[in-house]
Amino acid sequence: MTTTNAPSAVPVSRPFSLWDMACRQLDAVAARMQLDPGTLARLRQCQRTLVVSIPVRMDDGHVEVFEGYRVQHNSERGPTKGGVRYHPGVTLDEVKALAMLMTWKCAVVGLPYGGAKGGVVCDPTRMSMGEIERVTRRYTSEISIILGPNKDIPAPDVNTNPQVMAWMMDTYSMTVGYSVPGVVTGKPVEIGGSLGRLDATGRSVATVTLAAAERLGLHPAQSTAAIQGFGNVGSAAARHLHAKGVKIVAVTDAYGGLFNPRGIDVAALHEHVRGPGGAGTLQGFQGADYDPDPVAANARLLASDADILVPCALENQLTAANAEAVRAKIVVEGANGPTTPEADAILLGKDVTIVPDILANAGGVTVSYFEWVQDLQANFWDESEINRSLDRIMLRSFHDVCDVAARERCDLRTAAQILAVSRVAKASRLRGIYP
Ligand code: NAD
Repeated sequence: MTTTNAPSAVPVSRPFSLWDMACRQLDAVAARMQLDPGTLARLRQCQRTLVVSIPVRMDDGHVEVFEGYRVQHNSERGPTKGGVRYHPGVTLDEVKALAMLMTWKCAVVGLPYGGAKGGVVCDPTRMSMGEIERVTRRYTSEISIILGPNKDIPAPDVNTNPQVMAWMMDTYSMTVGYSVPGVVTGKPVEIGGSLGRLDATGRSVATVTLAAAERLGLHPAQSTAAIQGFGNVGSAAARHLHAKGVKIVAVTDAYGGLFNPRGIDVAALHEHVRGPGGAGTLQGFQGADYDPDPVAANARLLASDADILVPCALENQLTAANAEAVRAKIVVEGANGPTTPEADAILLGKDVTIVPDILANAGGVTVSYFEWVQDLQANFWDESEINRSLDRIMLRSFHDVCDVAARERCDLRTAAQILAVSRVAKASRLRGIYP
């Protein structure tokens, strides 16, 4: 949430509705599974959609009114769970789609949650800490009627962080009159957060990458990887892959890219970008060629000859326009929705193994689940126990998805969706319709 002096970033283009895309994917899987029309009709709708206005007195004294959303897609497998993003481009359409995606993500790794998502239309890079705190507290207060540790549990997402979660937890707790750490996850450890949460998503991406490589007979020490995005997910995925011997030959961020066919020293890069007083970007790192043109650098990364391509930045990165150029054997989706349906078809036609987002990046919500369990029990685990449990769940889920893919003779994305939708549909049938 800090403003950097870095050069201008690549603009985000969003040519179509994310919600329409999510529904189209659901329709395709439902048809394949012969899902009954009543269940499909229920899953095609969000259970609750709350739109709130958030009046905030800004530092210069004027009042600004922001729009916020909280959407709960489906609670049939348990309380709903999902992040809150602060971004000028947030729309209700996007929040609904991401809530549905969370339902599938929780189901595919077997967590007892449904999916939710939240967002506030604001630009935190242009706001002071005080303004961000006031937006957070009023937003939390407005949506508190549908929040609660047994109802709906937010977490950080784009432009929100442990401090924002601390303010959300405090606001909710002050409203009910006692401390409720389990109402949000991704909190600082000092107030009920979990060890291992910051690394969890990148760790899960690395775990499934190595499992996918093994299935293709690729040995980590003889494999190369290209990582798009060096934020929370990309940097942790790069570190964990590097630790297992995978050579990281290309890394990009929103401002440029680094390339070194002999391998990039990931620990040194992490220190340079994200260490105390770090640059915040890849720029200035010695030990690889730097391309300062983000569009050219990303095009070069996506078409690089690395064995493994790991998009960990934004949605819509692999499209009909660039998928043909991909040379990797494995694509692992660290980001949510980095591959358009058109690119998906092209990559599958080239026999590329795609490990889908709802499986690959589920490590974040899995450790959020561990955090919630620890908060409810007021009993905290050490980091090795958390990492062991996370690895176990990720490997089991990867193999569950591979088994469905073998049985149904389909790709891993379709298999993950079949597994997730069948679990939610089963819960829905068992619970029936109230009243
Ligand atoms: P982040 O903000 O920490 O990092 C994003 C990185 O992507 C930054 O390095 C940024 O410079 C780079 N980037 C932005 N635009 C780019 C572009 N056009 N080309 C190349 N790089 C670009 O975000 P994050 O938390 O790492 O999340 C990344 C993705 O992973 C998002 O899609 C997010 O929804 C998803 N995700 C995150 C988590 C989590 O626990 N953080 C969990 C599940 C999914």
